[in-house]
Amino acid sequence: MPTSPDLSLYDPFTGMRFAHHCFLCGVPTPMPTDSVLVFAEWLLERYQLADLQIKLLDQSVLAYRDLRMPCCADCRQAYVEPLEQTVADAAQAGPAALRDLEGKTLFLWLGKMFYGVMLLELLNELDPLAKPLYPLAENTQLLRKLQCFFQVFQALRVPIEFEDFTPASIFVLKTAGLEDTIPFEYDDDLSTMTFSIKLDETVLITCLIDNGIVRQAMGRVYRDAQRPLHPVQVAEFKARVYYGAYLLNVVPDYFPRPTQPGDTQLVFDTLIDDVTREIFNPWENTGYGQSLQEMWKRWQIPYSEIMRDPQQPLSYLYDADGEPQTIETWEGKGTTGRPV
Ligand SMILES: [Zn+2]
Repeated sequence: MPTSPDLSLYDPFTGMRFAHHCFLCGVPTPMPTDSVLVFAEWLLERYQLADLQIKLLDQSVLAYRDLRMPCCADCRQAYVEPLEQTVADAAQAGPAALRDLEGKTLFLWLGKMFYGVMLLELLNELDPLAKPLYPLAENTQLLRKLQCFFQVFQALRVPIEFEDFTPASIFVLKTAGLEDTIPFEYDDDLSTMTFSIKLDETVLITCLIDNGIVRQAMGRVYRDAQRPLHPVQVAEFKARVYYGAYLLNVVPDYFPRPTQPGDTQLVFDTLIDDVTREIFNPWENTGYGQSLQEMWKRWQIPYSEIMRDPQQPLSYLYDADGEPQTIETWEGKGTTGRPV
């Protein structure tokens, strides 16, 4: 007789149980070896990341090879390793294969890294010596979002079908090779749950718990971006996603349907909590300009240059007439395009 899958959900936020418990199922993981890398081994090898460091919110730095999250052997073998293998194979096969991955696979893969970084931040805060600038554990709104995220992220362990929704906005962009010199790049904004990772010429950007709202809002820009882009254009696209996620004013709720004996999966429904609120706070060009400046740091484009026309911040994606433009080499000249 086939055993029916375990459909019980786990909530680490009840009691804030993050240390020494499997991040997926919650069983105790007393040994440091009961863990998985946040950025998987294949990423560390492929992009030679092992000794590189990332900076946490409290300004402490950790090497990629030390970024681990507690995970029991069962979850590692049954869920985490197969997921990493699927994405590693796709990355090996090239950008088209990455792009063709199921949305849910990309969501879980990006979600795993995001959650891993978030866990490190949370665990770090429990260290009495740490003095975080913006304590996450005290940010109730963020914790609520994280809790919502974790509900759908459990699809990594529990068979869950999302009824008529996708939990996240996911964008897949492709860079043009001529001036693309950085094979791996990663950034995140934990407060808006936005995360971006570059694997060779593929750039994945996600806003993790918006039910696809940011992607809907960026429909035209995303369609226009379906072509090889100069890195400065990718950075502009990211600025739009990160700023859009910042303006997002709603958090979805998720509801597992009651199960019957013999069910082999859970079905989740979703609702946006408060329909009387505006979905997005108003777009402010000054705020968007700051997001651009941040994303364009590598090109050192001054804020004054970005905001030369306050009505139309600098754009490399669009020309002055609002038409998509092609940039092969960056010469420091952009056009003032239309904010979308
Ligand atoms: Zn587990």
